[in-house]
Amino acid sequence: MAGDAVSAALADAEPTPFWLQDIPARQSFDPVDGTLHSDLLVVGGGFTGLWAAIEAKRADPSREVAVLEADRLAEAASGRNGGFIAESLTHGLAHGVAMWPDQMPELLRQGRENLDEIAAILDEHGIDAHLQRRGKSVVALKPAQLDGLARSCALHLAHGEQAELLDRDQAQADVHSPTYLGALRVRTGGGTVHPGLLAHGLIDIAARLGVRMHEHSPVTRLRRASAGLAAATPAGEVHARQAVLATNAFPPLLRRLRSWIVPVADHVLVTEPLSAEQRASIGWQQEQGLTDPGNRFHYYRLTPDGRILFGGYDAAYHVGGRIHADDPARMRSYRTLASHVQSTFPQLEGLRFSHRWFGAIDTTSRFTPLFGTALGGRAAYAVGFTGLGVGSSRFGARTALDLLDQAPTERTGLRLVRRRPVPFPPEPIRYPLIRVTQAALEAEDRTGIRGPYLRLLDRLGVGFDS
Ligand SMILES: Cc1cc2nc3c(=O)[nH]c(=O)nc-3n(C[C@H](O)[C@H](O)[C@H](O)COP(=O)(O)OP(=O)(O)OC[C@H]3O[C@@H](n4cnc5c(N)ncnc54)[C@H](O)[C@@H]3O)c2cc1C
Repeated sequence: MAGDAVSAALADAEPTPFWLQDIPARQSFDPVDGTLHSDLLVVGGGFTGLWAAIEAKRADPSREVAVLEADRLAEAASGRNGGFIAESLTHGLAHGVAMWPDQMPELLRQGRENLDEIAAILDEHGIDAHLQRRGKSVVALKPAQLDGLARSCALHLAHGEQAELLDRDQAQADVHSPTYLGALRVRTGGGTVHPGLLAHGLIDIAARLGVRMHEHSPVTRLRRASAGLAAATPAGEVHARQAVLATNAFPPLLRRLRSWIVPVADHVLVTEPLSAEQRASIGWQQEQGLTDPGNRFHYYRLTPDGRILFGGYDAAYHVGGRIHADDPARMRSYRTLASHVQSTFPQLEGLRFSHRWFGAIDTTSRFTPLFGTALGGRAAYAVGFTGLGVGSSRFGARTALDLLDQAPTERTGLRLVRRRPVPFPPEPIRYPLIRVTQAALEAEDRTGIRGPYLRLLDRLGVGFDS
């Protein structure tokens, strides 16, 4: 796509998540003012924090639960993601099989149940979050990716998923892109959701269950106090018996968590609604989510009102984990994505983008969250979903509650929960190491060859992803 065409297509894109504009305004919640008391305090009001509050109330309606959100509820990663919702708790099937082969049947069962239960809870409360369990397609853009898709298809079938390989003609007949050389159509395992409606739905359920929510209430310090904890905010303090920390990619209240989480910026574009003619020109009748198998992969999907959401590719890490809104590299990432939309669907020439935004992904070296307790077992955390937390945040929230209860459950028995990822080294080593790893991943995308450095990381169970 010529530079002028990219500039024109992006010229009117609002720097705001589409999902947050596509939903009606909701009530806001007052900041903490003065001293409050609660049984359970939840720090962070994204999907993880909201699920922790909801599940705590579902388990014991008499328990007093308060959520403290630094900004607005569910407007960080939870309000600005791609809306792919997966059963997987392991960042995909292949990764789970490589990391925890003996526990994979259990991990799959718990992941499936988690998504079934999310759907059931939304139904029970009459929440329509446009949850569509249509699976996904992984499209090959290079000949070297076709073997990998065939292996992935066999793996999916062996684990009870419904999957089929499509050749070039079948893939292009399904979704009309001249770039597709084949595809893996997986019909099970998840689908898509409207993250804004899901967020509002969870806030609504939490309010109905009697959860106290406070926005614009950043917790600046968490300390032990008598038999529980005290959380300081700019205008008050909350005393609670226990706390769940659900702060995702933000600077954690527990210093030790900094070793495990690297905030990575991920970028997303949304187009204007397609006309009926444009919509017909791309096929895509099953409206499944699409992705490609590169290390720098794209993810794209249709919105309920017929736009294309297109994200991913650049996973930007900056020294010290700083994520600046005005980073000049950000515009380059949007331009790259815009040109990839055009090469994927050249028939949509002239289509403009209505929204562009970025968000921080809480990456761990194992691509799956870490769990644990602190402050004498009074606080538990679930952070590090590494770009696949829309569904698994509920599993993470329940696991954090299990850890506070100190009673073994099916979740706390998993090695995914009991063992931590390899920590990232501190700066100034962290940044160059991540850049070297990214360069190796980019080289693999170019050549199709996984070099010795990446193979060594594989053996150590370490990697870098968004
Ligand atoms: C661009 C992008 C695309 C993504 N796409 C997908 C996808 O398609 N599918 C998928 O499964 N996952 C995706 N993800 C990941 C997914 O959005 C997250 O894993 C999930 O929303 C995690 O929710 P969370 O509650 O842990 O974090 P968040 O939603 O980030 O919530 C954390 C909250 O904690 C608050 N907070 C932080 N510190 C404090 C403090 N000290 N006091 C009070 N509050 C605090 C923050 O303000 C924030 O609201 C994507 C993420 C991004 C950024």
